[in-house]
Amino acid sequence: SAFRNLFTGMMHTPLVYLVAILCDLNVEQLTIVIGFDLTTRSWVTSASATSVFESLPSLDGVLYTDNATLADASIDFGNIVHRQPIALLKPGSIEDIVQIIKFARTHKLKVAARGQGHSTYGQSQVEAGIVIDLSTLNKIHFIGTDRAIVDAGVLWSQLLQQTLVQELTPPVLTDYIELSIGGTLSVGGIGGATHRYGVQVDNVLELKVVTGIGDLETCSLLYNRNLFTAVLAGLGQCGIIVQATVKLIPATTNARVFQLYYDDLATFTRDQCEIINDQRFNYVEGQLVSNNAGGWRYLLEAASFYSPPSVPNNNLLLAGLNYTRGTQQIEDKSYFDFLNRLAPTVTFLKSIGVWSYPHPWLNLFVPSSAVNSFVGEVAATLTLADTGEGPILLYPVKTKRFGLPNFRVPNRSVVFLFAILRTAVPPDDSVITKMLNDNRRLFERNRDLGGYQYPVNALSFSHNDWQQHFRPVWGNMLTAKRRYDPDNLLTPGQGIFSNC
Ligand SMILES: Cc1cc2nc3c(=O)[nH]c(=O)nc-3n(C[C@H](O)[C@H](O)[C@H](O)COP(=O)(O)OP(=O)(O)OC[C@H]3O[C@@H](n4cnc5c(N)ncnc54)[C@H](O)[C@@H]3O)c2cc1C
Repeated sequence: SAFRNLFTGMMHTPLVYLVAILCDLNVEQLTIVIGFDLTTRSWVTSASATSVFESLPSLDGVLYTDNATLADASIDFGNIVHRQPIALLKPGSIEDIVQIIKFARTHKLKVAARGQGHSTYGQSQVEAGIVIDLSTLNKIHFIGTDRAIVDAGVLWSQLLQQTLVQELTPPVLTDYIELSIGGTLSVGGIGGATHRYGVQVDNVLELKVVTGIGDLETCSLLYNRNLFTAVLAGLGQCGIIVQATVKLIPATTNARVFQLYYDDLATFTRDQCEIINDQRFNYVEGQLVSNNAGGWRYLLEAASFYSPPSVPNNNLLLAGLNYTRGTQQIEDKSYFDFLNRLAPTVTFLKSIGVWSYPHPWLNLFVPSSAVNSFVGEVAATLTLADTGEGPILLYPVKTKRFGLPNFRVPNRSVVFLFAILRTAVPPDDSVITKMLNDNRRLFERNRDLGGYQYPVNALSFSHNDWQQHFRPVWGNMLTAKRRYDPDNLLTPGQGIFSNC
């Protein structure tokens, strides 16, 4: 009867895909029925589903329908949610994306963009739809004195390497730079320079976007502004970013990196706030780290960027800070090595297989007024097993730097990113379930204190939760969705418009 209900509820859809869960069967001996085509009144099998693509116009890239590719597209960094598409496009041109969206619209197929698939809860996946893998749209078109024009599939690491040749850099980079430009612009893109320059979406001058209608549009703050503001930090709901013009600023060659330890949370957050206000450092982050006695201490990470012969003055930079004396570590690195600092850890985690473990991540924005009580309360019971020894980030940012309406943060001048970047160890269902339940509990507690989630999480989130998340701009989101993606094709994995 569940089968019948599902079918009845979807009668308006010409091509209905009902995904059969055949875990207990030997699927190789079966023709898998995956849906019912109401146009032809016949069952759709895994073989016949792909024949729908025979009417596709010729493409510059390749449309894959083989099992191995589709299975890969159902895995992301979170490795918790798995939704398998019926096709994956590796576009050879922007025109391919236009064609495939028009095609998907005609055939009522859902579409999701995929950058590097570093989402944690199926955000870049689509069940029985089409994934557009932007990794093949990866050209850097232009680097000028204050801007670069790049395809959405370019990685931040690739752009950085190229801009450094001209002594330029993007103002804000994420901690891990092997993320796609389209992928972080669809969520925000926060990092240690955010207290100075906002998030990555605040540093975009222009976008080329293929909307859910299949129109290729150019937009910026000056023209086509509604589309620009709908797409940046817009979680892929109104269009697929295909090209971005991003700001560049002069780069230095070196970074002096300071690691200062604190035993007291309130002293730690007070010093963090002081140094983002006086802007003495170029980069400010922080972490909770184990004190090896079952509790936590606090690590302030800050960096001063410089090019010799000028060098940072350590005494000035450390003046007035109340870290535990004798614990400080100071190290000079090249600017690139500093920004690429996670690379050796990632290589190691890949070598021991832990990189592909499930990652039930939680990123929250906590109002500064609640940070000591909330984080203190969480830290009192949080154990290394609760995080799988993954990092716990805690650092403040100034909200006056944020200009895009869809990037939601508490209504305070300073808010803290509090990120519990969990790995499920061992990678069992029971561990994952506990971590997901903890995520939801902590999200609700923070929400009740005026906090928000940073939506890159493994977090169960209903349509009502999304409405509340976007509350002051929800009306604008709905208007934009109806205008730019009227058939609700795009990015179903977030579940934002799942009941529309
Ligand atoms: C190790 C690691 C470190 C991280 N560090 C940071 C950090 O420091 N700061 C930070 O802000 N985030 C960080 N993140 C989170 C990361 O920014 C987001 O998960 C980001 O979306 C991943 O980029 P991606 O290219 O893998 O995108 P995907 O996971 O492929 O896609 C993410 C979402 O964006 C949509 N999307 C992708 N490309 C496009 C496009 N071109 N147009 C429209 N929509 C698109 C997808 O459909 C999906 O909904 C980190 C993630 C990992 C795994």
